[in-house]
Amino acid sequence: MPELPEVEALKDFLVDHLVGREIVRVLPVAISVLKTYDPPLTALEGREVTAVHRHGKFLDLRTAEGPHFVTHLARAGWLHWKDRLPDGPPRPGKGPLAMRVALETGAGFDLTEAGTQKRLAVYVVRDPAEVPGVARLGPDPLADDFDEARFAGLLAGERRQLKGALRDQSLLAGVGNAYSDEILHAAKMSPFKLASALTPQETRRLYEALRTTLTEAVERSHGVDAGRLKSEKKSGLRVHGRTGEPCPVCGDTVREVSFSDSSLQYCPTCQTGGKPLADRRMSKFLK
Ligand SMILES: [Zn+2]
Repeated sequence: MPELPEVEALKDFLVDHLVGREIVRVLPVAISVLKTYDPPLTALEGREVTAVHRHGKFLDLRTAEGPHFVTHLARAGWLHWKDRLPDGPPRPGKGPLAMRVALETGAGFDLTEAGTQKRLAVYVVRDPAEVPGVARLGPDPLADDFDEARFAGLLAGERRQLKGALRDQSLLAGVGNAYSDEILHAAKMSPFKLASALTPQETRRLYEALRTTLTEAVERSHGVDAGRLKSEKKSGLRVHGRTGEPCPVCGDTVREVSFSDSSLQYCPTCQTGGKPLADRRMSKFLK
């Protein structure tokens, strides 16, 4: 899933490729991706893209005196840029193509989604705040005014475990399953530690890990072509998705805890005093 750094890089890519261009056609191929009906998709046609913004993991294309095109790529969605779109209309069917946006230049992009769980979403709205997921977003952790005091304030009353808190979009915008693993590894903290139990020193360490991890990932992704962002993200991860591989910091074996629809990875030596965490698939029977 693209998270803050990848969506930020996609945003920069789209600023270069879309701003000042006119949208001539928006073709919904998988109709279920469109979550709004007023204004219609056709309200985007004939409009120039004037700006591209990121809100958490959402991309927001603003058009001249027209609606915004807001998309959330979700777990298996992606944006594919094409300097030259195919001539014929796309055929609805079983392929991953969900929506095509064509420009007056003949270039454009496809939104695709792999797999059977369809979560990719497109909203055509007058104001991005009309998108419920955007309206709910917490502060952006890379914003200039997101300082340590602000972060400490967010965690203060937070009785959840760090892993769940960090990836909650209403607490913090843009961090998902992968970067929450990376941030906790960099901070040398257990994913199951309670957020409200951090000492001021631990809060500082987590804040620094949050900013450094995301800033480095944004720098790595910057200028990378849209098509190569996914592999670029994977190559930069130290523990996420690396179960069984050696930790790049200490050499211990990266371990995993599985949940019904996701998993987390961590290094026991760096994060949990050498002790493996209980696997939730087992402990759910103990509730
Ligand atoms: Zn380690």
